Amino acid sequence: MKSKSFLVPDDIYDYMLKTTLRETPVQRELRERTAAMPQARMQTGPDQLQLLQLLVRAIGARRCIEVGVYTGASALAVALALPEGGSIVACDVNEEYTAIAEEFWERAGVTNKIDLRLAPAVETLSDLLAQQGSYDFAYIDADKTNYDAYYELVLQLLRPGGLIAVDNVLWGGDVANPAQRDPDTVALRNLNEKIGRDERIDVSFLTIGDGLSLVRKR
Ligand code: CA
Repeated sequence: MKSKSFLVPDDIYDYMLKTTLRETPVQRELRERTAAMPQARMQTGPDQLQLLQLLVRAIGARRCIEVGVYTGASALAVALALPEGGSIVACDVNEEYTAIAEEFWERAGVTNKIDLRLAPAVETLSDLLAQQGSYDFAYIDADKTNYDAYYELVLQLLRPGGLIAVDNVLWGGDVANPAQRDPDTVALRNLNEKIGRDERIDVSFLTIGDGLSLVRKR
C-alpha cells in the first residue's frame, strides 16, 4: 500500500515518484516498516510528505503543529524541512505507534525539533492557545469526527498568512456520495462545505493522496 491517490493509475504514480521523489534513507525505512503494519493506509504518501516540506519551506515556517502522528512520517518530513531552531508540536494519543515514530526521529537526528504531546489533541491545542502561541503551519490528519474542533483551534493558533493542510478530505470519494452517512464521512463532508464558504481563509482542494485541502489564514 503506497497511500497514493485512488485517482492516479499505478504506472503514473510510479513515474512521479521515480522522477521527483526526494526521500532520505531513514524516511524510506520508516515508510517500508509502516507499510507492513496494520492500518498502514493511515500513512501519508511520500509525494504528499514532499509537498508538506515544500510548503514549510515556501512560507519560511518555523513553528508547526501536527494533529495525528501515527508512526511519525509527517512530523519527520516537516522537521527535516524546518530550519535550525524550528519546531513542531506533534499531537497523538497512541503510545505504541508514537514509540516507532520516536525511534525514527532519533535516527534522523530531529528529536530536538519535535515536541510530542501524548494527550487528546483538543487539550494540547487548547493549552497552546492559553499560552498565546502563534504558528506558521499545521497538518491535520487524525480522527475525522474531531476534525472540525481541530480546524477551529488550529485556525486560532495560526498567524495571518499561515497554512493548514487538512488530510483525507476526499475520504476515498465517499464525501461526494450522499448515500454515505457514517460519522467519519459526514464529519469530513460538513467540514469541506464549511471550509468552502469560510471567509476567514483562502482554500485550494487538492486531489493528491486521499484529498488535501490547503487553507491559508487571511
Ligand atoms: Ca491521512
